Amino acid sequence: MSVLVFADSSEGKFKKSAFEVVSYGKKVAEQLGSNIVAVTINVADASDLYKYGAEKVVSVSNDQLATFNAKGVASVLQQVAEKEKSTVVIIDSSVNGLYMAPIVAVNLKAGYASNVVALPSSTNPFTVKRKAFSSKAFNHTTIATDIKVIGLAKNSYGVHENAVSGTTESFDAQVSDSGVKSLSVDRATGKVTIADADIVVSAGRGLKGPENWGMIEELAEVLGAATACSKPVSDLGWRPHGEHVGQTGKPVASNLYIAIGISGAIQHLAGINASKVKVVINTDPEAPFFKAADYGIVGDAFVVVPALIEKLKAFKQS
Ligand SMILES: Cc1cc2nc3c(=O)[nH]c(=O)nc-3n(C[C@H](O)[C@H](O)[C@H](O)COP(=O)(O)OP(=O)(O)OC[C@H]3O[C@@H](n4cnc5c(N)ncnc54)[C@H](O)[C@@H]3O)c2cc1C
Repeated sequence: MSVLVFADSSEGKFKKSAFEVVSYGKKVAEQLGSNIVAVTINVADASDLYKYGAEKVVSVSNDQLATFNAKGVASVLQQVAEKEKSTVVIIDSSVNGLYMAPIVAVNLKAGYASNVVALPSSTNPFTVKRKAFSSKAFNHTTIATDIKVIGLAKNSYGVHENAVSGTTESFDAQVSDSGVKSLSVDRATGKVTIADADIVVSAGRGLKGPENWGMIEELAEVLGAATACSKPVSDLGWRPHGEHVGQTGKPVASNLYIAIGISGAIQHLAGINASKVKVVINTDPEAPFFKAADYGIVGDAFVVVPALIEKLKAFKQS
């Protein structure tokens, strides 16, 4: 018996979500009196996972998985789950994770719960809490199948150190041709990706034009944050489409979301509700975003943002 977690990576480096799923998987294994096994793909040194409780790491190297391939990764997870007799498989709720987890569930004839936000409240019956309706509500789901697949919502459990002396073994997984080939990969321009960011600095049409994004990028750099934008901003071509967040864009579940010159339309809020602390900077005190904000500054972005950058720089130096 084991709890299997998929430790996702990019270009040979673990994503932050990998440490969160391992932290979570370790606790689930403890609840079940079972062992945790982490699967990595094309990562040369997986020992970072030991810090978060991964006693055993199964390392797969495969050129066919050099770019993400949902069916291929799902097939690897199925093979390792069968080998390790896994009863629970945990995958992050990133775009790739949400794409792949149902395939894993079908392959393993498992029940699947996505957007899980907490440890199982009971292991018999196996019951998990999930967010619903853009994080406005929660439901409690019981998974009755022998094998369970869990999609862990980003930033819901957190990264917890729990160092163990782990071991890594190689596994020669068979990956058949999925019929899908990535022809090219376009990277987001920001240094920190929205999916991995703890802090997101986002701006809207209140910025007036693309020439004013220098201060947004500077604020993001000072904070080590990712940059994002509202839909009209990317539609107008002021910013790349990869930065558009909201109902029809990327979901954001950061610890801090700073919205600058964004009105707070329902479609925007739908994508950022899962962020823990929301700060709004807007000239209009009646802007709907203030109702959803934890902190609000009524003021002109062109005055507030440079002042904020100056204060943060001074704070970092002191
Ligand atoms: C089907 C559908 C899906 C959609 N999906 C999305 C989505 O995924 N994401 C998304 O963002 N939108 C989405 N939209 C669009 C959404 O309804 C809003 O139109 C959009 O979010 C507004 O963008 P904005 O806040 O940047 O612009 P605006 O609504 O124009 O707001 C600009 C804000 O900036 C403030 N402002 C102006 N000057 C300054 C200044 N100097 N300093 C500070 N503040 C200033 C104004 O007071 C205002 O509140 C969708 C719409 C539809 C119909």
